[in-house]
Amino acid sequence: MAEAYPHIFTPIQIGTQTLPNRLIMGSMHTGLEERDGGIDRMSAFYGERAKQGCALIITGGFSVNAAGQLDRKSASFNTPEIAQAHKPIPQVVHDHGGRILLQILHAGRYGYHGEIVAPSPIRAPINKTVPREMTEAEIEQTIADFAQAAVFAKEAGYDGVEVMGSEGYLINEFTAPCTNHRTDQWGGSFENRIRFPLRIIQAVRAATGPNFILMYRLSVLDIVEGGSPLSEVRELAQRVEAAGADVINSGIGWHEARTPTIAQAVPRGGFAWATARVKDALTRIPIAAVNRINMPETAEQILSSGQADMVSMARPFLADAAFVEKAQRGAPEQINTCIACNQACLDHYFVGEVSSCLVNPRACHETLLTWTPAQTPKKVAVVGAGPAGLSCAEVLAERGHNVTVFEASDQIGGQFRLASAIPGKQEFNETLRYYTTRIAELGITLKLSTPATLEALTAFDEVVLASGVAPHIPDIDGITHPSVMTYADLLSGKRQAGDRVAVIGAGGIGIDVSVYLTEGDSQSHLNPDAFRRDWGVDQAADNPPPVREVTLLQRRSGKMGIGPGKTTGWVHRLSLLKAKVEMIPDVVYQRIDDHGLTILAGTQQRTLPCDTIVLCAGQTSQTPLLAPLQAAGIPTHLIGGAKRATEVDAKRAIAEGIAVAASL
Ligand code: FAD
Ligand code: NAP
Ligand code: SF4
Repeated sequence: MAEAYPHIFTPIQIGTQTLPNRLIMGSMHTGLEERDGGIDRMSAFYGERAKQGCALIITGGFSVNAAGQLDRKSASFNTPEIAQAHKPIPQVVHDHGGRILLQILHAGRYGYHGEIVAPSPIRAPINKTVPREMTEAEIEQTIADFAQAAVFAKEAGYDGVEVMGSEGYLINEFTAPCTNHRTDQWGGSFENRIRFPLRIIQAVRAATGPNFILMYRLSVLDIVEGGSPLSEVRELAQRVEAAGADVINSGIGWHEARTPTIAQAVPRGGFAWATARVKDALTRIPIAAVNRINMPETAEQILSSGQADMVSMARPFLADAAFVEKAQRGAPEQINTCIACNQACLDHYFVGEVSSCLVNPRACHETLLTWTPAQTPKKVAVVGAGPAGLSCAEVLAERGHNVTVFEASDQIGGQFRLASAIPGKQEFNETLRYYTTRIAELGITLKLSTPATLEALTAFDEVVLASGVAPHIPDIDGITHPSVMTYADLLSGKRQAGDRVAVIGAGGIGIDVSVYLTEGDSQSHLNPDAFRRDWGVDQAADNPPPVREVTLLQRRSGKMGIGPGKTTGWVHRLSLLKAKVEMIPDVVYQRIDDHGLTILAGTQQRTLPCDTIVLCAGQTSQTPLLAPLQAAGIPTHLIGGAKRATEVDAKRAIAEGIAVAASL
């Protein structure tokens, strides 16, 4: 029922078009843009979302010319042939009643190739190459290239374009004082710095006519030294409106900004205030809020409080293609929620893999990862209700198998539930809520507090062992000392930490545990105001003192605190540095006794006078049932941590669960 979210489902006028709801599927570069067969896969990806209520979709970014490419392999939109090839994408979206805009961009100094250009030859901190200063002729040509790309987009059947004016790309480099040191008509005064975006908007509008949606992505908050002040952002918004844009989408933070903008450290809706500061500068066109909006309640709250006219969400549409349809039915408990981990979306993109989603591996793989009803429904037992067992049980039941899940603990979730205690990872509870809903909907039998036994399992045709992992106990002199506990003891609440803590092992869990131990009362991952203060956004940082003295240790040498995430490692390290966590690499653990933990750090012996030692020293698979099951001749399949304890994470666990379920 749309009444659950009346503001989301109030129609809105964008240019000459009326949209039935106020949710935008924001731009995401998926890696399909450059792949062979990418058009078919993008058609399936966007089509599934349009079919399930997505009224306005924005594609990943396409560069308007060669200089504007992100790298030499990245997709452009600058020939009639490319426009022709794209036709199936808008077609399928239209077939389902949706609309789709093509994002057009110029990477400017963020390009990773030898020919990068910018308003001024100032190197980006995240790029080794110094850009060449654009000539006036090149600036004029680039404006014409934006207009030409928009014309090609119209020919391809797109309903409009999003002109990428934020995140520190070329247009943003013209508008911000720190990157534009020109002394001609394109730099210096505010009027000169905004000439480039305004000319682009005017040129696109003139070339495409009134019945073509022109969305402008405005950097409402640069978060870089020398970025545009609020007064300039507000005036630019007004001028963008006057120049012919139909709608403004917000951009938050340049790529080089050292403040998390979409990671788990950011509270839900944590940047809507930045859009709200600009909204009342506009008189005619709507503006959309962005970043860390992952559930309909948050979107509804932003709209009802008047912070924005629309809400743009990107990753939540990877996590659940039916987000809009479920919100419309008033069934948020059915939404598979984006947990802001970046593990399968952005992290994939940055290593050249096609994006997907940790909680929904079908995302961007719609044509490849499919399953059909089972020809012969079987009785299948799944041992363990961690992420691997849950995803497996869901797909087995969707295929028509009769599924029973045995779970030793009194709750589902396994290690993933422990993880939900970490600041920012409270979102993991949404995944467990989703599976709880699916278990009920699909009629899966869930036996909690029921360790599986060989005897119970002999009644089944097939068994899936998803019994996961347990903390590894390293062989250190004094390991049974009362000050020692595992991360599981700590995070489950079974044991409490004292004031001086040594954490053994600095992998993903060791880092998370250190963040958990040093979190104060501010809970900045839940509270936008505390987040702004703790991360120094828009005002001087004034961090509260750490609540504990924590030392994080590892045996390897080298930089610590980065963790497994490609795009989130720097956030972890900054969090630990802010919390004054001492990080010691190259450690040999010598002994644990009443004096604390004695280590050899390099060549120096030290005794850390800690009252608590938390073991985060890896994990071991829990498979005592495997051999008996095999001996009994029961077909048995291993998934997740039970299959391999090293490098198991929820992404692998969920994907393996689905793969096995699709094959039985
Ligand atoms: P488990 O989660 O270990 O689940 C196994 C389940 O089987 C358990 O519920 C257990 O009780 C049950 N079981 C065992 N034996 C039996 C039996 N005989 N009968 C019945 N039930 C049984 N991963 C990420 O991808 N991203 C992260 O950000 C992340 N952060 C983490 C943070 C922390 C603090 C922790 C601890 C883990 C984190 N992980 C993260 C790792 C992730 O949670 C695990 O990789 C994942 O849970 C493994 O899934 P699994 O289903 O294979 O096993
Ligand atoms: P991990 O990343 O492999 O780290 C294990 C740590 O234990 C290492 O720092 C290792 O470092 C140390 N260690 C291993 N054996 C030891 C021994 N015998 N004695 C002392 N120290 C030992 O694994 P994890 O931290 O246990 O995490 C488990 C999984 O969960 C990982 O796959 C991880 O990716 C996932 N996870 C992901 C996230 C995320 O944010 N994406 C967060 C948490 C967990 P040294 O050998 O150098 O001492
Ligand atoms: Fe969200 Fe993680 Fe999925 Fe990316 S991989 S869409 S951040 S849940």
